[in-house]
Formats: sequence, structure tokens, C-alpha cells
Amino acid sequence: MRQNKIPQATAKRLPLYYRYLNNLNRQGKKRVSSKELSEAIKVDSATIRRDFSYFGALGKKGYGYNVEYLLGFFRSTLDQHETTEVALIGVGNLGTAFLNYNFTKNNNIQIKMAFDSDEEKIGQIVGGVPVYGIDEMMERIEGISVAILTVPVSEADVITEKLVKAGIEGILNFTPVRITVPEDVRVHHIDLAVELQALVYFLKHYPLQSK
Ligand code: ATP
Repeated sequence: MRQNKIPQATAKRLPLYYRYLNNLNRQGKKRVSSKELSEAIKVDSATIRRDFSYFGALGKKGYGYNVEYLLGFFRSTLDQHETTEVALIGVGNLGTAFLNYNFTKNNNIQIKMAFDSDEEKIGQIVGGVPVYGIDEMMERIEGISVAILTVPVSEADVITEKLVKAGIEGILNFTPVRITVPEDVRVHHIDLAVELQALVYFLKHYPLQSK
């Protein structure tokens, strides 16, 4: 794997850097300092400098970083040339929102198909994406490596098992269930309720100093 040398925390910031630098490039900016970047994307400048050193980009004092060089690096690292096709399971409220959103601002990720068990939803096109019956998932999902899971809690484990059998490599899990997968399947878990509760807790107990 090409990205082995980049620490995971750095890799997670890549899309953030990429999006911002792309904007700068569109505005015709040739260079950017770590301070400017830091203010724009709220990552401290020491972290940015360390991250960028992994990319072989060495900022020059008084000059900053070359925007085009960095973009070239990010494009190849994030495989911007390839489109990653994604499947979504569970076209409820959250699932429907994702289908309508469909990551149109990231031109390298696209939800290609969705699955549901509800007869009324099967056969519909939501946000341009066809909704198939869950019974068809095994045959249709072939060749797709990433799935977004937005089914009810009670269904999460069963669906996960099927996804694993179908050869899925990564699952973005929006259910509160800590799903179990084999070692070679990666799960990223996003529990929106927990995130929101954490934010409220921090606001209460760790108020930010007023500016
Ligand atoms: P809604 O109001 O549309 O039901 P919701 O997000 O509150 O939305 P949930 O009960 O969380 O509904 O279910 C999410 C979606 O998952 C629904 O569209 C439901 O039909 C679908 N679903 C439930 N069981 C399965 C299953 N076994 N396989 C695939 N999809 C399922």
C-alpha cells in the first residue's frame, strides 16, 4: 500500500487539505503558508507542517507551500482519478438524505445503488439512485467495495454479515450498533446522537473562552 508511510491521523486530514487547496487553486493562488492554512481549516500550523513533510512538501520560509505540487500529491494519494462506487443500505430518513446529497461536491465518491426491504421503496429512484430489494443485494453489490449502513438497529448485524459475505471492504456505520466484522473489513462508526451529546456536554463543562 502506497499510504503506509503516512500516519492514520494525517491521512484523515488529507481530504480537508485537498478541498481547501483546490479552492485556492481555482482562485489562482500559487502558494500558501501553513499559517493561512491553519486559520482556514482550524488545524494548528505545527501539525500541518509535520503532515506536509510526509508528503515530501517542504515549505520555504517566506514563500510557503506550492499549491500545485500539493494538489498533485493529494490527487494521486486520494485516487481522485478513480471514482469509488458506494452502496447504501436502508433508505429511511437518514439514508434518503444521503442519496439526495450524494457527495456531489466530492467528484470521486458516488452512491450507485441503494437497498431496502420496504416494498414501497423498492423500485424508486431517490436522488438519482435506484433502490433495489434487499434480497437482490448479494448479486448486485458485486464490484462495490464500500457500503453506508443506515438500517434500523435490529437489522444491523444481519445486514453486516451479508455485506461481508458479498466481499465489502469498508462500512460507514450510522447505526448505534458496534457491528462485528472480520479483521480485513474496515468499519468507521458515526453515531450522530452520541456526537451531538458529546458536543452539548463539552459546551456545558468545557466552555470556550470568549474572544
Ligand atoms: P422511515 O421513517 O422512512 O422509516 P427511519 O430512518 O426512521 O425512516 P428506520 O426504521 O431507521 O427508519 O429504517 C431505515 C430504513 O431501513 C427504512 O427505509 C427501512 O425500510 C429499512 N430497512 C429495515 N429493515 C431492513 C432490512 N432488513 N434490509 C434493508 N432495509 C431495511
